[in-house]
This record gives sequence, structure tokens and C-alpha cells, in this order.
Amino acid sequence: MSRSEQLFQQAQGFIPGGVNSPVRAFKAVGGTPLFIERAQGAYVYDADAKRYIDYVLSWGPMILGHAHPEVVAAVVEKARQGLSFGAPTEIETALAGKICAIVPGMDLVRFVNSGTEATMSAIRLARGFTGRDKIIKFEGCYHGHSDSLLIKAGSGALTLGVPSSPGVPAALAEHTITLTYNDSEGLERAFADIGDQVAGVIVEPVAGNMNCVPPVPGFLQTLRQLCDDCGALLIIDEVMTGFRLGLAGAQGHYGVTADITTLGKVIGGGMPVGAFGGRRDVMEQIAPLGPIYQAGTLSGNPVAMAAGLKNLELISRPGFYEPVFARTDALMQGLRERAAAAGIGFTTNHVGSMFGVFFTDAATVTNYEQVMACDGERFNRFFHAMLDAGVYLAPAAFEAGFMSAAHSGEDIQFTLDAAERAFATLA
Ligand code: PMP
Repeated sequence: MSRSEQLFQQAQGFIPGGVNSPVRAFKAVGGTPLFIERAQGAYVYDADAKRYIDYVLSWGPMILGHAHPEVVAAVVEKARQGLSFGAPTEIETALAGKICAIVPGMDLVRFVNSGTEATMSAIRLARGFTGRDKIIKFEGCYHGHSDSLLIKAGSGALTLGVPSSPGVPAALAEHTITLTYNDSEGLERAFADIGDQVAGVIVEPVAGNMNCVPPVPGFLQTLRQLCDDCGALLIIDEVMTGFRLGLAGAQGHYGVTADITTLGKVIGGGMPVGAFGGRRDVMEQIAPLGPIYQAGTLSGNPVAMAAGLKNLELISRPGFYEPVFARTDALMQGLRERAAAAGIGFTTNHVGSMFGVFFTDAATVTNYEQVMACDGERFNRFFHAMLDAGVYLAPAAFEAGFMSAAHSGEDIQFTLDAAERAFATLA
């Protein structure tokens, strides 16, 4: 028995399913999850001391690669001064100022501890600001596990086949309207019907929780226009895309600005940090300035802020993104070529440094229905062949993959060689 298998058995004695977040359990792909012991740069090392090239990157945050020495040093130095005070600290302003300078439309920002908290708070803010209850979201988009948003969600909720979870009150779920991603006409119809009741629309600007599905041209722009016409707030959930599609995130990439932006992952550099922010007049409704309540014992934690600030400093350096994007391009092109050579129906999507692979004969994948029609069983076999070869992909067909600045040309070549062998076994 491998040490990961032993540890997984032990974990199941104390933790539901042995994991603290469902998708980690490898339920979709089968087998035993890797228990990770340490990580450095582009690699994770499991409890059996096997090395893997890591394209999960803690589900997105580690854009610099793991255990970047300067980030670790900043964390250690801050930790020496005390772990938490529950009082304001200078470093919160430093990180907030940097985020407001970078993220389009961000006048004020509030830190929280996860993406879930960020989107949950953004929804409350949209409802409180507009005095309306209805929220629009899109099928296959995941915004964390708060009640209003766990409706036809993506990520683990797709994998486990519980699009809306027991425990979410029907009375609350009825205020969340779910529409088809990338369907501008459906959106227009919905707004014509109930636009004046909509508090906000929340969207993943590139969907990364139903694999990777970029917006079709005009979709985000239509969304922006309809929100403006009806007085609804546009919440762009950049928990995954923020600082990943470029410094200005998806909003910079697509030229659309939110009323409220939610952030997570990269802004914490691997520490638990989320944030929501945006228009001054909206954010001024948050307590203590306004009546809409939101709080957190550990929010703005100095050690987490230190990781986030150093992370943002390093990725703000000119020329940081280009090589990361070029490697992502090269990996996707290489995978498509090798799949085609093996006669496997296969395509990819990618934007910046996030990507998705699809086992399908369709030339393009633009919505949830098409994602669901892909060959999941083939993905699972591919996943395990890659894992055996030392390449760690997200353990489910509904998750995006990520590239870091630590992935080298050799890592890409190693991955492509492994994929060539994996495709051959699938043919
Ligand atoms: N929004 C998006 C777009 C996400 O991808 C995620 C997590 N993958 C969340 C929100 C929730 O973030 P967290 O897991 O930190 O609560």
C-alpha cells in the first residue's frame, strides 16, 4: 500500500471522505488522492516522494510556482511579528492600494478569507444596494458554496452531480435565476421579463469551473449593457481569473468593468485571502460606513496580506506574463497535435494562463451542454496515464488547469511526451 493510500484511509476516520474540499477526493477520476508533502516551483512531491509537474497549482493561486523564496521570506518575517491582531494594520492598506491601482473600477476593497466569502458578500451588497432580491447566475459557473450561489453550480458540484445541494432552502433558491452561459439572447429575454427585479448578475468572465470556457464575443458586453439598462449590478467573479489573465484580469482582457469585483486565489499567493470591491457609492454601503453588514475575525490577516503583497509585487514586474502565456499556448498546441496524430477527438480552450482539455469531436466548446457531452471516461483514463507519468492534472474533467512562471520549456516537453504515450493508450 502506498503512503498516500495509508494516509487517505486514516483521514477517512476523522474527516468526511478524508478531504476538506470534495474534488480533492478523486471521486470523479477514481483511485486514491495524492497526499502532498511539499512543493517547489512547478513541482509537487507526494507522500511517497514521487515528483509531479503540477498544473493544479492549488487550484490557481500559485502563479509564481510553489514556495517562491521571496514570498516565503515575506510570510516568515511577518509571522515573527505576530499572527493576528483583529485590529487594522498598515499592510492591509498597502495591499488594498495596490489592488485598487490594478483592478479596473476598484475604488474601495474589503478583504475576506476565501472566494466563497467574497461572492457571498458581493451578493448581499448587490441586494442591499438595489433593494431587490433576484440574482442571475449562469449554469456551470461556480462562485463558492454559499446558499444563493450553489444553484446549478460547477466544479465539485458538477462532479458529484449535486447541482443544487440539499440544505439550500427552496425559498432562497427561487431568488437565483440560472441562465445559459454565452447565450446573449437568453439573457435579453430574461431581462425583458424580470430585469427590474434583478439585484445583480454574477458571472465568471472566463468559466473555469466547467472546465475552461471563454466568453463568446459580445457576451460580457451585453451583460454590462443589460445591467446598466435595468439598474442591476454586474458582479464579475475574478476569483480565478484575477491576476491570471494578465495583471488587470479578465476585465482588462475583455474591456468590461464590473460594479463589484470578487477576488481570491492569486491575491493571497497561497494564503487564505479573498476580496470584494468596486464602485465607491456601492462599497460605501458596507458597514461601518453603511448599513450592509459584513465582517471577519481573521479578515486582512497580516501574514496572508504579506504573502499577497509580495505575490502581487513579483507578478507586476514588466514582462512577467508573456512567457507564462507562451508556455500555455505551446502546451495547448502540442496537446492538440499529439491527440490529432493519435486519432483522438480532442480540443482545448485557453485564455492567458488558464486552460481546459476536452475529449470531444466538436471543434469548439462554448457552453455547459457541450462540456457535459465530452467523453468523461476518456478524460479519466488520460488523467491516470498522466499521473502515472508524473504529471498532475486537475482530478476532474470540469476543472480548469493552470500554468505558472516556474514551468520551464523542459516541463512542457516532458508533459507533451507523457501525453503522446497517454493518447496512444486511449486510441
Ligand atoms: N469563484 C470562483 C470563480 C472560483 O473558481 C472559486 C473556487 N474555485 C470560488 C469563487 C470560491 O472560492 P473559495 O474556494 O476560495 O471559497
